[in-house]
Amino acid sequence: MGNLATHYDPFSNPNDDETFSDYGYCGTYIIDGNSTGDKDLVCCKKCIKKFKQADAELQQARNSQLKDMQGFVDFMEKELTIKEEK
Ligand SMILES: [Zn+2]
Repeated sequence: MGNLATHYDPFSNPNDDETFSDYGYCGTYIIDGNSTGDKDLVCCKKCIKKFKQADAELQQARNSQLKDMQGFVDFMEKELTIKEEK
């Protein structure tokens, strides 16, 4: 007890409460926000072991996010073009 390790939460975003995960990357339930997206502050050994895996996953998530954003931009541009043509 009293062993509050700081877990790695690569998807956490301090500016947006809704993006906070309930679980650290190792799968441990996070109490009182004892997780961080800053690797230097992580002290959970299980999370540290998964840094590499987390990096790959994060990269993948960012890539698909970029794709989504590009899709949105394309959509908006199409919409604007249609409106301008009317
Ligand atoms: Zn952990």
